[in-house]
Order: sequence, then structure tokens, then C-alpha cells
Amino acid sequence: MPELPEVETMVRGIRPAMEGAKILEFVACPCEKKPISLKPSIKELSSRLQGVKVQAVERLAKRVLFKFNTGEIAVFEPRMTGLVLVADPPSQAHLRFEFRLIKNRKKSSVWIWDRRGLGTFQLYSAEDFEVALGGNVLGPDALLIAEDVFASRLKKTNREVKVALLDQKLVAGVGNLYASEILHEAKVHPQKTAAKLTKPQCKRIHAAMNRILLEAIAYEGSTLSDGTYRNALNKDGSYQNKHRVYAKGDETCLTCHKSTVIRIVQAQRSTFFCARCQKR
Ligand SMILES: [Zn+2]
Repeated sequence: MPELPEVETMVRGIRPAMEGAKILEFVACPCEKKPISLKPSIKELSSRLQGVKVQAVERLAKRVLFKFNTGEIAVFEPRMTGLVLVADPPSQAHLRFEFRLIKNRKKSSVWIWDRRGLGTFQLYSAEDFEVALGGNVLGPDALLIAEDVFASRLKKTNREVKVALLDQKLVAGVGNLYASEILHEAKVHPQKTAAKLTKPQCKRIHAAMNRILLEAIAYEGSTLSDGTYRNALNKDGSYQNKHRVYAKGDETCLTCHKSTVIRIVQAQRSTFFCARCQKR
């Protein structure tokens, strides 16, 4: 968390304020918490970003990209609890950085906020960006990958399908929450070996991935019981109300209304599924 739908919601939330705006200043907020990882130093960042124009704000898998007219690209990876905000931060104590912007003679701010401080913010030259995140560093985006490419990538790994879906080199953007939901909708057991998936199963997972991620974007992502994830206006997402298995261990399955949802651990992460709906 946040995964593809949450980061897409963040990007859409800050894009109108940022695209076409000039950065008056990029500053560190007074924050006594563990500092988030920053490259280069705040001093160098402030000087390299001052007066620079924001050409585009985009999503790369689970990261926010800020593309500047200098050709440089800043990447914010929210990791666990990072947010980008245009208004009303959830707390002052966890504000990390502020873009002070001007667009059409109107001043505004975009903040980077992070409660646990595990997020990262880095500014890259175009060349360094290619080395760090271009080429084959990440797999195709989960919303763009073609069905046959997706199937052939699953066929090449002997890992359990749930674990394979979390591999950002195989497909980028899916995380722990949506992997459980996707496999439930596709009626595939999470411990099935990816290489042994049938063609119809691959097709169903691909379709479920598209449908669920797009629906979750429409609902502005999932705000779990810890309340951490917020959109750019500090409002809850609402896709958590559509979850069918995630964090519902021991509850009656919402799909078959007969079996209970089971929680297992795969690669140190919780997986939720219904053994009746998702037969082995
Ligand atoms: Zn069920």
C-alpha cells in the first residue's frame, strides 16, 4: 500500500495544480521524524528545482513522476505511508516537503507527507532515470500489459501465482491487497504454480486485474482501517467497501456465501482467499 490505484489517484489529484506550473521553491518542512530518503541533498534539490517548470506528472507503477522542462525527472515512491497533497495535510508533524508553485499568476502548494517515513524522493537526470527505472527494470504496467505477454510471463515462473503477481519485473503496479482481490475474482487458487496455469486461467486473471484496478481508480483507491491512505484532498478512498476477501479472514465469503475466507502467508505477506470459489 499504496498500490497502482492509489498512486494513480494521487497523480490525478495533483496534476491540475502542477502541470504547467513554475516551481518558486522546493523546501523541506520542519519535521522531527525520521527523515525520508532523499537524493541529492535538500540544498542541491532546492537549487536544481528553483524556477523550473513542471511539464508532466505521471504514474510509473507505484511511483509518482514529476517531469521538468530541464529534462530532469523527480520520482516519489510512497512505499508504505507516503502521500501527495494539494490541501489539508492529515498532520503537520509528518509533512516532509513542499513545492511552492505559481501557475497563471496564482500561487499554490503541493506537499509530500509520510507518516512512517519509508518513502523516497529522488531527482534524476534523464540518463540516470533510464538506468534506475527505464528499460527492463520494471515489467509492463498492469493496466497496459497485453494478455498474451502477461500469460507468457506467468508461464515462465514456478512461483506461486500470488507471489508472481507481486514481482514488479513480471508486471508492475500490483501489490498485496489487489493480488488477493484479483485472484478471487479470477477464481484461481493463490498457491497455484504460475507455470501450471491454464490459458483460460491466465485470461481470467488478466481480465480481473484490469477490471479491479480500473474500478479501484474510479473509487479513488482503498483506505484501510489504519486510515493512512488519502487522496490529494485528504479524503478517504472508497474501494475498501468493494473488497471481497482482503483482510476478511474468518468472514463468510461475499461471493459464494457458503465458505469462510482463509488467511495464509506467502512470501511473508498475508493472502486472503476462499477455498470454495478458488479451488486448487
Ligand atoms: Zn467463496
